[in-house]
Amino acid sequence: MFESDKALELVPRYREFLEKYIIPLEQGAIYGSFKAHLPALQALRAKAKEMGLFTPHLPVSHGGLGLSLVEFASVSEVLGTSPLGHYVFNCNAPDIGNMELMHQFASPYLQQTYLRPLERGEIRSCFAMTEPEHAGSNPVHMSTTAVREGDEYIINGHKWFTSSADGASFTIVMAVTNPSAENQYARASMILVPLDTPGYRRIRNISIMGDEGEDYLSHSEVEFVNCRVPVSHLIGEEGSGFQLAQVRLGPGRIHHCMRWIGICERALGMMCDRAIERELNPGHSLAMQQTIQNWIAESAAEIKASRLLVLNTAHKIEKDGAKAAKEDISTIKFFVSDVLMKVIDRAIQVHGGLGITDDTLLSFWYRHERGARIYDGPDEVHKTVLAKSILKSRRG
Ligand SMILES: Cc1cc2nc3c(=O)[nH]c(=O)nc-3n(C[C@H](O)[C@H](O)[C@H](O)COP(=O)(O)OP(=O)(O)OC[C@H]3O[C@@H](n4cnc5c(N)ncnc54)[C@H](O)[C@@H]3O)c2cc1C
Repeated sequence: MFESDKALELVPRYREFLEKYIIPLEQGAIYGSFKAHLPALQALRAKAKEMGLFTPHLPVSHGGLGLSLVEFASVSEVLGTSPLGHYVFNCNAPDIGNMELMHQFASPYLQQTYLRPLERGEIRSCFAMTEPEHAGSNPVHMSTTAVREGDEYIINGHKWFTSSADGASFTIVMAVTNPSAENQYARASMILVPLDTPGYRRIRNISIMGDEGEDYLSHSEVEFVNCRVPVSHLIGEEGSGFQLAQVRLGPGRIHHCMRWIGICERALGMMCDRAIERELNPGHSLAMQQTIQNWIAESAAEIKASRLLVLNTAHKIEKDGAKAAKEDISTIKFFVSDVLMKVIDRAIQVHGGLGITDDTLLSFWYRHERGARIYDGPDEVHKTVLAKSILKSRRG
């Protein structure tokens, strides 16, 4: 139902590229040094460009493949099977969200100076909204300020979980510019800050369950102390930050969910392979145990249900817009992240001790994908959105 000729032609090409070039790099780049693998990864990016597979999400006029959201979702699932997939094709978060945002709302100057090099994969970016001192679930509550003085904004604030700030060239920061606006959603703005601006400091990469990561594979705590940028670095209108954040999040949830489904697919494959090859007794494999069969069947059904839900939501966003698909977007966020947790956990259990070692990708996903239930709105917030909407329609 959601298959297009374009996606049918592209998906096997991406799959082949992953198997041939990306998967062999995984163990070293994920558990070794990501930075040490940058030259090899850059070479793969160049190859992806040569093969016409780079930035699949961008319009053709910007060097992309001009895919619809539904078509990109199918590609994204394949790329999600490797933690390096989206990175190699330059459609990884947070860059993809920043590209989409800047494409729609940044001035021609910002597009020329920052968006084009980002699209070409020459630089990376990050997005700084969450603050350690305030509940990120209620982002209107923030302390970072951008005060206008002449032709400049002076930014002061403390952020964390700024993903991929290590090695990035610029961030888009959410800061309060209009503190006295009556509407609390009209108080903040998005401002682009080049990361070599005096006053900006990356304090540390936050250790996530024992892993600080580096470069693209990290989350930083950062600060802005009297950090001055020209007012021309404002994205959209002053006070429009939350409006723009909504635009950024709709398709963003499709991207994340399809990436999670890709992880589930790979973990299920690993679960099956291990169950087949692991013998409890000669001639008696794990795959012959009914509990394991149940996990395989349940995982397969949940993955299929997730895929259909997400593609249906992508279709609705394209047809009717993100606002009309609000309920669906919330549904996929908590449904698919929960499936992701279950499938990774089952795959680890089937692998036994091996499952918690760093000899397979399962432990990487277990550590780093736990955040899926927290970022892009904690699951509980999305459940409330859905439940309230259902209750409202019942009440009439
Ligand atoms: C891996 C990862 C990457 C991230 N990347 C970025 C990034 O690049 N840029 C950025 O700005 N931020 C990023 N974040 C931050 C993320 O957006 C916040 O963690 C998220 O918004 C939750 O905010 P919080 O951590 O302050 O949790 P809190 O707001 O303190 O919430 C804690 C818990 O309270 C519960 N809760 C909250 N609200 C409700 C409610 N209404 N009803 C019931 N229960 C509720 C939930 O269980 C929630 O997990 C990232 C986070 C993670 C984990």
